[in-house]
Amino acid sequence: MKRDAAPMFDSHCHLQMATFKGDLPAVLERARRDGLQSAVVIGMDVPTSRQAADLAARHEGLYATAGVHPHDASCVDAEVMESLREMAGEPRVVAIGETGLDFYRNLSPPAVQRRAFREQLALAGELDLPVVVHSRQADQETFAVLREWAAGKRRNGPLGVLHCFAGDTNLAAEYTQLGFMLSMAGNVTYPNAKRLQAVAASVPLEHLLVETDCPFLPPESHRGRRCEPAHVRETIEFIAALRGADSDEIAAVTTANARHLYGLEGQGKRD
Ligand SMILES: [Zn+2]
Repeated sequence: MKRDAAPMFDSHCHLQMATFKGDLPAVLERARRDGLQSAVVIGMDVPTSRQAADLAARHEGLYATAGVHPHDASCVDAEVMESLREMAGEPRVVAIGETGLDFYRNLSPPAVQRRAFREQLALAGELDLPVVVHSRQADQETFAVLREWAAGKRRNGPLGVLHCFAGDTNLAAEYTQLGFMLSMAGNVTYPNAKRLQAVAASVPLEHLLVETDCPFLPPESHRGRRCEPAHVRETIEFIAALRGADSDEIAAVTTANARHLYGLEGQGKRD
């Protein structure tokens, strides 16, 4: 039983996806029973951002983001950007994203991804919201774009998060110096994930977040099955063991960090 355990915060999930349609109340109940305080439902295009905002409006503890994933960057036009801007004004929408660069799958052409990324960064800057970044096989370019963006910013607080961070400890240090958080997903628990484990063991605690990215990336003991927010506990316990820390401490710190990043510390959606 986990009654006295510290609350946990899933900083990145996709509960709006069809795989959760049939049993979302049960999924949320399991998460709550296991100590999950909050989860952020991440948009990937306009319809999934809309669904995320609707879920957040209906369920206590859920928040949402508005953004277009690099896979879908081809859909970004003025109308899409206007929709993101409108959704970002809703009370439980706390960030812009996920946006970024994915040169692994290149489902949208790189030039199109770059433009969509820059437009969403500009929107986040204008609205003074943090940005949720997806980067795959694009380490150096994503960093260069974010460094340039960060140089012109005077945000009070973290600039954003590299979700499912996959870089090495050097890149991790560069991002934390820039003012970004790094989020570790269930794949850090895989036996061959030595590079990720090195990052999870050494990133300064005040920059560490945890996520499930569910339904994707289940931690080791749930591999091959649908991931859900309650599974963030396994990732927290794994990281605690790596660091020689108490899992309650990691749960408490990552919860506080997520609340800080997403502006949930005060009344309303932001301080
Ligand atoms: Zn995601």
